[in-house]
Amino acid sequence: MRIDIENIRKTFRHGTAAALAGVDLAVASGELVALLGPSGSGKTTLLRIIAGLEFPDGGRVLFDGEDASALPVRDRHVGFVFQQYALFRHMTVLENVAFGLRVRPRGTRPSDGEIDRRVRDLLTLVQLEGLEGRYPAQLSGGQRQRVALARALAIEPGVLLLDEPFGALDARVRKDLRRWLRDLHDRTGHTTVFVTHDQEEALELADRVVVFSQGRIEQAGSPVEVYDRPATPFVYDFLGSVNRLPVEVRDGHVWLEGHAQPLANGQAVDSTGLFTLYARPHDLGIADQTLPAGDALPGIVAAVRQAGAVVRLDVRVAGLDHLVEVEVSAGDERWRAWKTGSPVALVPARFDLFPR
Ligand code: ADP
Ligand code: MG
Repeated sequence: MRIDIENIRKTFRHGTAAALAGVDLAVASGELVALLGPSGSGKTTLLRIIAGLEFPDGGRVLFDGEDASALPVRDRHVGFVFQQYALFRHMTVLENVAFGLRVRPRGTRPSDGEIDRRVRDLLTLVQLEGLEGRYPAQLSGGQRQRVALARALAIEPGVLLLDEPFGALDARVRKDLRRWLRDLHDRTGHTTVFVTHDQEEALELADRVVVFSQGRIEQAGSPVEVYDRPATPFVYDFLGSVNRLPVEVRDGHVWLEGHAQPLANGQAVDSTGLFTLYARPHDLGIADQTLPAGDALPGIVAAVRQAGAVVRLDVRVAGLDHLVEVEVSAGDERWRAWKTGSPVALVPARFDLFPR
């Protein structure tokens, strides 16, 4: 099922700012989309509006091209899972998963035999065979979350909506469930909208990441796009580390303020004026200052930290009140020669300029 969200606006009665300030988003059939953003940015509100648990002040939600804005939740064919798995504690796993089918009105309710067959298939799908007789209290957090997913899938939803479904679990289990959910999605092909505030989770799991800030979409794109080509300073900051350098652009060159040499090795820039240069640590080239460094920026190594496959160097640059972080691959043997106090030269290989 395809979802089109058109100019959705929502302000809560006692809210000062809009929870959603005009959101447009198209989710293709079978796509797995992550809504990513800090707490309070409007992710849950949008998910609840898609589900029909909340109604917008303006805008439309369409399922497969048909306006569903006025439909109550039971007519939307959505399955949802929230952070607190909210299973029925007095029901077994089997009864929990069967619940959505058993409460269907007469006429649309499958036969008992059919319900039983479907529930057992689902429990196989979520790898919980053999646990049908257990109660929620007798399950681990990860198992409970898989029961909640099976229960959401039981009604054969066109859309699966997940609100921080692994948020309450520890890091190890969360990682396992992440991989497991991706695999489940690939096998079932449900259109899935997934809310998270965890950058790594969104980047690893989703086909497309939609970055939210203050009730607006900052950027929507593939994980590679939002990480490597952030559209705004906010996305740069929210998705990983970034260096910010105050620069001036003149004569087609980028100059760090107060420095005599342009710092971006010949990269042509059209505009002129004052900007902040944003560059990820791995997009800063680094070389020995003793090499002919051209128009690179001289600096002094302040710290060297190896973190598994990468090495991070803090570099002090004259005139900057903060350290610049550079990341190189641990396989790049040059870093072994760099110690605290070593002179080096920096060249931003890739960067963005945002006006100040
Ligand atoms: P997120 O899921 O990204 O953390 P929410 O969608 O829950 O954000 O909230 C967005 C904004 O709307 C926040 O400022 C929040 O306080 C406000 N909000 C959410 N639900 C309600 C509500 N039922 N009543 C009043 N304000 C709400
Ligand atoms: Mg939320």
